[in-house]
Amino acid sequence: MAKEISRRSFLKGGLAAACTLAATSMPEWASAANNKQQLVTLLDIRKCIGCEACVEACSEANTDKYPNPKKPFPKMYPDRVPVMDWSDKRDVTDRLTPYNWVYIQSATVEVDGEETEITIPRRCMHCINPPCVKLCPWGAARQLSNGTSRIDSDICMGGSKCKAVCPWHIPERQTGVGLYLDILPSLAGNGVMYKCDRCYNQIADGELPACIEVCPEDVQTIGPRDEIIKQAHALAKEINGYIYGEKENGGTNTIYVSPVPFEKLNKAIEKGKGKPHFKPVKDTMADANNLAAAMVFAPVAGVAAAVGKFYKMTKTDE
Ligand code: SF4
Ligand code: SF4
Ligand code: SF4
Repeated sequence: MAKEISRRSFLKGGLAAACTLAATSMPEWASAANNKQQLVTLLDIRKCIGCEACVEACSEANTDKYPNPKKPFPKMYPDRVPVMDWSDKRDVTDRLTPYNWVYIQSATVEVDGEETEITIPRRCMHCINPPCVKLCPWGAARQLSNGTSRIDSDICMGGSKCKAVCPWHIPERQTGVGLYLDILPSLAGNGVMYKCDRCYNQIADGELPACIEVCPEDVQTIGPRDEIIKQAHALAKEINGYIYGEKENGGTNTIYVSPVPFEKLNKAIEKGKGKPHFKPVKDTMADANNLAAAMVFAPVAGVAAAVGKFYKMTKTDE
């Protein structure tokens, strides 16, 4: 079974050169990812049929990472960080939540003179220089060498800084779970932030992220950055289309190719809480003040990481 998954992985990665690696057990795209190369996903949104198989697969693959909050929640003083409780709404799939890390956005637009419904999987963009990681005061958000960003639920205090600084406001908080309950239940944080972690553990094992593996239309292609950027430009040229994600926020590791301009898509999609936009985004981390803030936070992050590791050890021993 693992062999079959590996074979599909490399086919979906679209890397012809991987043929030369037949003797190794790990597909080339995964070897690249584990060898510190930036890994990018390309989404050809013309192909998406909105079946939500990716949404379901994400949930199944990541259930063990979802929060199991303790209730009642401790009262916060002062009441600055509101309670966010999605634990009784785990089935919500029409937006991002702590229990739903990808959702299908839809837009009705004119394509080649015909009114067409376009469906688009939305999740974390995995920015090259992610403000959620660089500005997390506790060092809970990390970027792996392959460009995946993830939030460590053992360290996160749920203060939402990552959501505030993310140009798409992707991470979502669940109250009543995490480190704050043990150290500052009434004074800090108020939960843990959750978002797509690009199935980092599956990638480390040479397996595709669940949403890519399951898609019946092969909407997503994954591979090393140079290869995928080339593919994205070739596809955009072929369909006379448009690219989003290559330059936004200084560049991301998620590239959408669309037959209509993203400005049009952005007007047509429903936006708001848990529903990210498709607007142009400047390089937020190019701002010198942000970089300075990140450096000020660094010592706090080190302490938090140590406390988080201790917390994880004590939880494991229970
Ligand atoms: S599984 Fe593929 S076709 Fe179905 S909604 Fe997800 S991306 Fe679109
Ligand atoms: S899209 Fe937002 S949450 Fe994802 S890596 Fe970029 S800044 Fe972080
Ligand atoms: S990469 Fe993994 S965690 Fe991210 S949306 Fe796809 S299945 Fe979910």
